[in-house]
Amino acid sequence: MVAPANVDVVVVGGGVGGLAVAWNLTAQALQNGGKPPSIMLAEASGRWGGNADTFSFTFGTGPDGKPLDRWCDLGVNDFNVTAYTKIVSVMNTIGFKQGVDYKPLEDTTCYFTADGSLAFTDNSVPWWGTGMSQSLLDSANSFMTVAGNDATKNATKFQNYTIEKYINEQGPLQTPPWDPDLGPLVIYPRINGMYFVSELGPRSMPFLAVMHYYAIQEGAGGQPAYRCYFVDGASAWITALVGYMQRNMPNITFMLNYQAVIAQVRTADPMYLVQDYSDNPTQTMATTIVLAAHADDCLTAFIGMPAPASAVMGAIRYNNGISVAHTDSRVLPVNSNCWCTYNILIHDPGSAGLKPYVINYVANRHQNDAANPAYDQFGLPQFFVSCNPHKPIPENMILKDAGGNPAVANLRHNNFDFATLQAQSQIHSLQGMENIYYAGGWTHGSGLHEECWAQGEEVAALYYQYAQTGVPKEPGEPQEVGKLVGDRLKRNAGL
Ligand SMILES: Cc1cc2nc3c(=O)[nH]c(=O)nc-3n(C[C@H](O)[C@H](O)[C@H](O)COP(=O)(O)OP(=O)(O)OC[C@H]3O[C@@H](n4cnc5c(N)ncnc54)[C@H](O)[C@@H]3O)c2cc1C
Repeated sequence: MVAPANVDVVVVGGGVGGLAVAWNLTAQALQNGGKPPSIMLAEASGRWGGNADTFSFTFGTGPDGKPLDRWCDLGVNDFNVTAYTKIVSVMNTIGFKQGVDYKPLEDTTCYFTADGSLAFTDNSVPWWGTGMSQSLLDSANSFMTVAGNDATKNATKFQNYTIEKYINEQGPLQTPPWDPDLGPLVIYPRINGMYFVSELGPRSMPFLAVMHYYAIQEGAGGQPAYRCYFVDGASAWITALVGYMQRNMPNITFMLNYQAVIAQVRTADPMYLVQDYSDNPTQTMATTIVLAAHADDCLTAFIGMPAPASAVMGAIRYNNGISVAHTDSRVLPVNSNCWCTYNILIHDPGSAGLKPYVINYVANRHQNDAANPAYDQFGLPQFFVSCNPHKPIPENMILKDAGGNPAVANLRHNNFDFATLQAQSQIHSLQGMENIYYAGGWTHGSGLHEECWAQGEEVAALYYQYAQTGVPKEPGEPQEVGKLVGDRLKRNAGL
């Protein structure tokens, strides 16, 4: 694909954040009977989807002569059908079907210590092995309701709270009071198993940041979650989405292997010169830029970023994580009867800051292999995906694809800390200034797919609004953090 000489809009970043912007710019124009803008969607790597990254491999050939092919997701891997209403609506439009293309997963979690001294599940019916005590289970359920409601309806009151302060203050006020182990044995380890914890560890996370995730992905304070996995992996959903867009949205030019560099040409109209970072760069002139890659990547890609925007983007910090698919059961609970879909390591007290993000998926359970008649036949091993495993995985236990490449991915996500909440509260007031817009996970809540899509909708709506009124010349007032989060969670819960 050759880069066009001129376009209306260049969208930088081909993760779901950038795809959402290109989709919504096009769809909103068509809905209003208008002509969609010409868009170039630039992705630096050789595939679409960013953090949605599926790995395919084979266990060889079974006795029946059929290949024992398998897959697993190294990054994005599931979604809550109840809360991801925008994503489900897009899936319906593109013919990505429930029961065929996405299916319910076995939604179980085990919390365990590495030395085998403790392992329990969060289900009311213990999963074969040791169950959570009734008091801890009641407290965990109560937390999901009480804290979920507080994040949605009383967000302003708790906007400066860390999760630790919230639990310590609110726990004793409940009837019955929350079990003192709720934080150390369940909530903090669970937060550690989310992908946006800073090196300060889970206790110092903003209460509202944690609850963003719990509300949307796990149903806290709203309808019970209905978690589904993508059949054949998250990349299958991205492939279906991009395929639909390529067939139905001819106004979009899709450019892979195009690491965009952007410069403002102040005297010209269109104002931006975009080229790829290569020996023989191809150049495109654009009127509008949408930055939908990570904040730090955008800062380096954009030469001469306007000062108010660079101040906001510079406040966003990133975590590097490693995700590995393997057959090494030693990173799972010692008692294999406790193995669940999600297996969350309880750190030794005081050590959490050393390894903020640790979670182990039993991949067979995650993709509900138990419903697959071939599962467990021919001596198939269970296989696992570990994010930041707490022990090294031996090389010969790491799964390999057909080309011999190991199943290892470097995944990055912004920390969801107080600085990010502040930055998010300023984004709206910067949108459109100098014809630049901001999208992607760091701009909206915990950056789940649903939130990336909501941001894409918002950017498109502002683009058309400013086409009528002219783009803002000065940054407006920041939004209030508590109100912003509360409004977003209320909207998501349909309130
Ligand atoms: C380990 C992990 C697990 C997760 N699990 C889930 C999950 O189960 N469900 C869920 O909803 N969300 C999950 N998330 C959150 C997920 O990251 C978001 O849902 C979403 O994928 C973020 O999309 P994005 O477009 O903002 O960023 P990314 O997916 O990171 O995409 C950014 C893209 O920008 C590109 N880029 C960077 N610089 C340039 C440049 N100069 N020019 C062009 N392109 C550039 C990058 O190559 C990349 O492809 C997970 C995240 C992580 C890290």
